[in-house]
Formats: sequence, structure tokens, C-alpha cells
Amino acid sequence: MSTRRTFLVAGAATAAGVAASAAPARAAAPDRELRRILKEIDPARIEAIVRKLVSFGTRHTLSVQDDPVRGIGAARDWIFAELTRYAAASSGRMTVELQSFIQPVSPRVPVPTRITNVVATLRGSVTPERIYVVTGHYDSRVTDVMDAVKDAPGADDDASGVAVIMELARVLATREPESTLVFAAVAGEEQGLYGSDHMAQQYKDAGADIQAMFSNDIVGTGNAHDGTRNDPRTVRLFVEGVPTSETAAEANTRKSTGGENDGPSRQLGRFVKDVEPDDMNVRVVWRRDRYLRGSDHISFLLRGYPAARFTEPRENFNHEHQDVRVENGVQFGDLPEFCDFGYIARVARVNASALWSLAQAPGTPKGVVIDTTQLTNATTLRWQLGTEPDLAGYEVVWRETTASDWQHSLPVGKVGTVTIDLSKDNVFFGVRAVDTTGHRSPAAAPKPSS
Ligand SMILES: [Zn+2]
Repeated sequence: MSTRRTFLVAGAATAAGVAASAAPARAAAPDRELRRILKEIDPARIEAIVRKLVSFGTRHTLSVQDDPVRGIGAARDWIFAELTRYAAASSGRMTVELQSFIQPVSPRVPVPTRITNVVATLRGSVTPERIYVVTGHYDSRVTDVMDAVKDAPGADDDASGVAVIMELARVLATREPESTLVFAAVAGEEQGLYGSDHMAQQYKDAGADIQAMFSNDIVGTGNAHDGTRNDPRTVRLFVEGVPTSETAAEANTRKSTGGENDGPSRQLGRFVKDVEPDDMNVRVVWRRDRYLRGSDHISFLLRGYPAARFTEPRENFNHEHQDVRVENGVQFGDLPEFCDFGYIARVARVNASALWSLAQAPGTPKGVVIDTTQLTNATTLRWQLGTEPDLAGYEVVWRETTASDWQHSLPVGKVGTVTIDLSKDNVFFGVRAVDTTGHRSPAAAPKPSS
């Protein structure tokens, strides 16, 4: 393994305009294929999906499963049939499965209940073992979380997210992403994230290399319908800092190095922001989720996978988890009339941009360490060389410890180690991989190592 030693004058790292250390290039400029993908995402199809899902009356996890027109079973069968139809255009690359299990009695599940995720997997053409997952949950609820009978339209929460993953599956089925993409409509979310919990555990048991997961949950509109300004170009992305799965030993390392803002999900958040489409603003929120709330990304975080959650910019809680009713002239309920289908399409494009850029880029570098055997003012980084056939090399990125995002990048070639004349005590470092067409991976923060 060759070593490259790179010298920068100490001051150069913080001075703007130094050629080698200027602000980093975007993770990826949208390539031609991505621009076509974004164009094909269709608000009219998204509207049709949301209205169809609402038409099943309720999609409560405990609702009827064998009625052809009402209840979660009818919704499940329709989603499966649609995804199967999309997969027909994939030349066999996309497969669709019903992933079922029996959820035992739990706080919000009074009798053992079959829960089924509908999962479309588009196998990668070059590095199929590397997987990116996107979900929406197709179950719904009303005011009483145990009420499986009343109409629970769940248009925003979360037919909107299901419409995102279905439209992505349709548009991407005809493409050949280099890595594997998984589009999943999960169930049991409102009862306790049970569907995604099962799915994440299946992946964990199989040793799957999931490098990113996104939950789209409540992505229906930028208009809260509460008199505040419409914000149709913003979507929030909730990303945790300290990993949910952190062990005691990892916590000790983090405390000693100040790593609380450099977990894998934070790096994913930086990446998504970096590749956001020009007409959308990803408002990254440095929290796992909103107060008192959760979503399916937590199932993946619990297993150590980088994950994040998309949500509309400002919610109207009269329209979520509510019986459909009018009270004092106010309409309650999660109805499709409160959705903006153009907005949902834009959120789908944010997802498409992130997923395509991730799938086409090399994987996030693994085994990244910072040499701490000696007290020096230089920094030596090491990592495992990736095996992607189009891997061009690596970039070291860094930022001031008080900065939110990477400020500098330095191409270092196709090497597994580099020494930079810049003190590890004063900045945060990351390493990312670059392919021959300029796609960049998310950065990986180094762990201290002898
Ligand atoms: Zn939800």
C-alpha cells in the first residue's frame, strides 16, 4: 500500500482560496441519468397513489386483512400488485416480496397479529451487496391508536411517504443503479415501529451492508393550513448525532475526541444536503426525531445502520392521528385535500437525488482510523481500499471543530493512507471515496487507532 505524504502550511487549512484546500466539490453534480429520473417523477401518479390508499377506508395494523376493498390487507395487496407491475419493466432486476411475520401481544397489539411489509428490491449492477433503503409506512390511525374500525385516511401520515417510495420504484425500475436500492412500504409503525423493526433485524441477521436508510413519514405538504406561510420548497431531515447504537466503549472514545457531531447519520445528512435538487431546501435538523415522536429510521439506527427521517416543514396536528370530524367549524382528520401532490413529488426528487448519488458513488470508506501512536502535529489517516471497479481515489475533508459542514477537501489519490501536515487536535477530519465520473461517497470520520 503506497503512502502519500501531503504538506500544507498550518495556516492554509483555514485560509479561503488555497487551491488544495478550498471548499469541497459537491458530492456529485446531477448526472444526465439523474436529471432524467427527476423529470419522470410525476405528481399526478403520486396523487393517484395517495387517493387509492385513502380509498381503503382504514389501513390500521389491526384492521381486517381479508376484505378485498377495505382495511390494511386490501392496501397491502394493492401495493404489492402495483410494485410487481413496475418490476416487470426491470428485466428481472427488481423483485417484490411480502415480508410477513406474526407480532406477538405487545402494548398496542392485543392479539398476535400478522404484519406484512411490501418490499421491492432493485439489485445493483456492480456492487449489489451494498444496499440503500427507503421506506414509507402504509398503516394509519385515528385518535385512539387501538381503533381499527373508524375511517383512518392517513393521507399525509403516511400515504405520502408510501407514494414517494412507490413512485421511486416505478421510475428507477427501468434503471441500472450500481448498488442495490430497496423501496419498502412497511406496516405496524403506529403500533410501535414493528414492521421496520422486523425488516431491520432481517438485514442485521443476514449481515447486510446497509449504508443508508431513509424514512419518509409525513411528507404531504409544505402548507400547514394554519395561517402560516406556505413553505413548499423545504423538507426537514432529522439526523441523530450520538448513535442510538453506541456502546459504552464507543461513548468513551467519542467523549475523548469530541465525536458527537460525526456519527454516520450526521455524515449522511451532510451528503443529502450536498446533493439536494436546486429547487428544494433540505432543512437538516440535528435530532433523531421531533419531540415525542419517532419513525422507522429508529429501527435501523438501533442496529447501527446510518438512517434519517424526512418530514414536512411544519405539521398541522389537527390533520394527524385524528378522527375525521368537524368541530367548531374546524375540519379534523388526515385528508387528501390537505396534501400538495407537487410537494410530495419534490420530496420524492430529494430522495431520488440522494439514493441515485449514493448508489452510483463508491461506498463510504471503511476502517478509517487516525494514527494516535505518537504525539505529533501532523495527522496520519488510514482506511481500507475499496474494491469498486470505477474507484478513482480518495479525498480527505476537514473543517474547523466549530463548523457544521466540511470546509476543505484534498484529493490524495488511490491510496490507503496519507499524512497531512495539519494537527488532528485542531480540526475534524473525514475520508470519502471518489469514482472516475466524480461521484463522491459520504465521508467517514476516523476512529483513533494505534
Ligand atoms: Zn407516520
